[in-house]
Amino acid sequence: MPIGFEPTESSAESRAWYHEVARERMRPISRKYDDQEHDLPVEWVEWFWAEGRKGHTGSSDGPGDGFVQVCMQAEELCWGDAGLYLRMPTPALGGSAVSAAGTPEQKKRFLSHFRDEGGDPIWGAMAITEPQAGSDSAAIETTATLDGDEWVLNGTKIFCTAGEGASQQPGGFVVVWATVDKEAGRAGIKSFVVPAGTPGMELVGVENKLGIRASDTATLRFEDCRVPAANLLGSSEVKKRDPKKTGDKGFKGAMATFDASRPIVAAMAVGVGRAALDFVLETLEREGRSPRYDAPPTEQTALERDVMQMEAELQAARLLTWRAAWMMNQGKPNSLEASMAKAKAGLAVTRITQQAVAILGPTGYSTKHLVEKWMRDAKINDIYEGTQQINQLIVARKILDYPSAMLR
Ligand SMILES: Cc1cc2nc3c(=O)[nH]c(=O)nc-3n(C[C@H](O)[C@H](O)[C@H](O)COP(=O)(O)OP(=O)(O)OC[C@H]3O[C@@H](n4cnc5c(N)ncnc54)[C@H](O)[C@@H]3O)c2cc1C
Repeated sequence: MPIGFEPTESSAESRAWYHEVARERMRPISRKYDDQEHDLPVEWVEWFWAEGRKGHTGSSDGPGDGFVQVCMQAEELCWGDAGLYLRMPTPALGGSAVSAAGTPEQKKRFLSHFRDEGGDPIWGAMAITEPQAGSDSAAIETTATLDGDEWVLNGTKIFCTAGEGASQQPGGFVVVWATVDKEAGRAGIKSFVVPAGTPGMELVGVENKLGIRASDTATLRFEDCRVPAANLLGSSEVKKRDPKKTGDKGFKGAMATFDASRPIVAAMAVGVGRAALDFVLETLEREGRSPRYDAPPTEQTALERDVMQMEAELQAARLLTWRAAWMMNQGKPNSLEASMAKAKAGLAVTRITQQAVAILGPTGYSTKHLVEKWMRDAKINDIYEGTQQINQLIVARKILDYPSAMLR
């Protein structure tokens, strides 16, 4: 089936609306909440909860772009500010986990109140990473033990995006990965919805970070934290690994969350990279040094070559991202494409923003402008939702058709 990304009238309108939000509501407070790292960006959170979350899907009844449009929105909003994007009161990654692994009843129970009118802003989050388990998420040590009709969680989760809001604000929730059977390895790992305020879930602290400083990144401790048995997402059955087979079905279910979240992170990276590139192009234009796109390669300046390379990297990352999202729309397996997009975009945004600072010199390095901030905001896209190396590993495994045990 041919893929085309020509925006419909409706999606172009929607995109323009998100761009306006980014320009008018995010950029003006971008520096403020980068400086005031742990303050709640009240004006943004309140506006988003009251107005922004209704979104804008365009006016005409075009075919719509589904998940591609979600990625376009992420790009526009992260062109505004990636930290503020992550601080939006939404189900976020926790919602992706519920959507990927939850039953229809769980989706209704945990997600529908996010659409209710009024009330206070609420957040969702997903907690996988532990002090001794990051890239190797199968090594997690947080346990879940069934006691009657409740699961009892014990362990510590670190670097949980939106973990402060999701664990504290009534209506919020944290999806926690824990093992119900350590012996079973990956097959024993399940995810549990822990509603905000559940006794035994403690907010230990929040990180001071290099970038995306408007986003809260929490450490959460679980001590005899009890949730109803019905809060386990999907099936509690542990399918022990058949040594003759290479797959791990149960774990794969939980990992399916990444097929949706990696294209979004890739789109976020594209948004930050575009912010830096746009700033470079505007500055060069003001100085009368815009790249000559029609100059023969032998006559191009080094600056022109650098800018065109940045543009090519950005475009490649965006097309990979939209392809992964489009496949999701079509219900096609997209793990390979999602990891390709994430790996490419993480690297592209890191290079583009560093190059932007290099081209602009002192202007790029100064806090008078946001370019130095974008350079700091860029790097996280190469770390969370699978690091650069891990996504490259996934791509290699998928292309070569090697199980994880053979290529690690
Ligand atoms: C700001 C921020 C927000 C985050 N948000 C969340 C969140 O919401 N939820 C959550 O669960 N986690 C979150 N994380 C955690 C993030 O997903 C992990 O940091 C990431 O998965 C890497 O794990 P690690 O830090 O333990 O590094 P490690 O796994 O220890 O890796 C260290 C280095 O070794 C490399 N490496 C590891 N294994 C291999 C291998 N097999 N082959 C080649 N290289 C390898 C890695 O690529 C990396 O460069 C967040 C992190 C940050 C910084």
